[in-house]
Amino acid sequence: MVDRGKIIDGKAIAAQLRQELKSEVESLREKGTVPGLTVILVGNNQASETYVRGKIKACAEVGIHSDLVRMSPEITEDALLDKIRQLNVDSSVHGILVQLPLPDHISPDRILSEIDPDKDVDGFHPINAGRLVTGLDAFLPCTPHGILELLKRTGIEIAGKHAVVVGRSNIVGKPISILLQRENATVTMCHSRTVDLKSHTRQADILVAAVGKLHVITADHVKPDSVVIDVGMNRDENGKLAGDVDFEGVRPIVSYITPVPGGVGPMTIAMLLYNTCQSAKMKSR
Ligand code: NDP
Repeated sequence: MVDRGKIIDGKAIAAQLRQELKSEVESLREKGTVPGLTVILVGNNQASETYVRGKIKACAEVGIHSDLVRMSPEITEDALLDKIRQLNVDSSVHGILVQLPLPDHISPDRILSEIDPDKDVDGFHPINAGRLVTGLDAFLPCTPHGILELLKRTGIEIAGKHAVVVGRSNIVGKPISILLQRENATVTMCHSRTVDLKSHTRQADILVAAVGKLHVITADHVKPDSVVIDVGMNRDENGKLAGDVDFEGVRPIVSYITPVPGGVGPMTIAMLLYNTCQSAKMKSR
C-alpha cells in the first residue's frame, strides 16, 4: 500500500531552485554579464500588479537586474510594438516579458510575436512554441516547465505513465501535454467539450488540472495512488485563493498532490528566472 496524501511543496522546491540560480547569476556577474529582465505592464489590473511585483522581487533575490516599464492603458498597439523593438536591440536586456492580459484594443498575438524569440523568456513566441513541439531547444513556457520540475524533483516517474491534462490553453494545457509526452508519458487531453470527464481523469496516473474553475476535480475524478497537479487559481466562496481540485476531498485518495497556493504558482516565477539566466548565458558565450 502506497503512502497517500503527500504534498508536493512548490514553495520549498522553488526556493531550492532560486538558490541554485543565485550561484549561476553570481558566476555570470563575475564574468561581466548581469542578467537583465524587462517587464512591461500595460494598465493597472490589480492581479497583474501582484504578479509583476512577485516577479520583480524574485529577480532581486537571485541577483537578476529587472526593469518595470509601466504603460498607460490607452497606449496604442504601435507604441507598444516600438517599445518591444527597442528592447529587442538593447544588449543589457536578456528577457522581455509583457504581462497579460492586455487591453482589448491590443492584440496579444501581435505583441508576443514581436518579441525577439531569443529574449522570449515567457516562451510564448510562435517560434518557441514550434521548437517545443518539434523537440528543439526552446524557452519553455514557465508554468508547464515548473510542473515538470516539480514532478522530477519529487522523484515521480513519468515514462510509461498515463497523464491526463484537463485544459488546452497555449500557456498551460497544450505545452504541458507536449512536455509530458516528450518524457514518454501517454497523454490524454481533455477540455470543455470532453464527454464524461471522469471516465478519462480516473485513468490518470498523473492528472494535471488547468481549467480555472473552482473544484472541477473532485474525489470521484481521481484514481487511487495517482499524482495530482493543480494549476488552477480561483477564488472560493470566502474569497480565498483555491485550485481546480477539491484538495481536502482528493488528498486522502492520491499519492501526491500540489496545494493552492504553494504548489505550481511559485514554480512559474522560478522558471522565469531560470529562462532569464539561460538567455544571459547564451549571450555571454
Ligand atoms: P484558459 O481559460 O485559457 O483555458 C482553460 C481550459 O479549460 C480550456 O481549454 C477549456 O476548454 C477548459 N475547460 C473549461 N471548463 C472545463 C470543464 N468544465 N471541463 C474540462 N475542461 C474545461 O486558462 P489557462 O490555461 O490560462 O489557466 C487555467 C487556470 O490556471 C486558471 O485558473 C489560471 O489562473 C491558472 N494559471 C495558473 C498559473 C500558475 O502559475 N499557477 C499560470 C497560468 C494559469 P476549451 O478549450 O474547450 O474552452
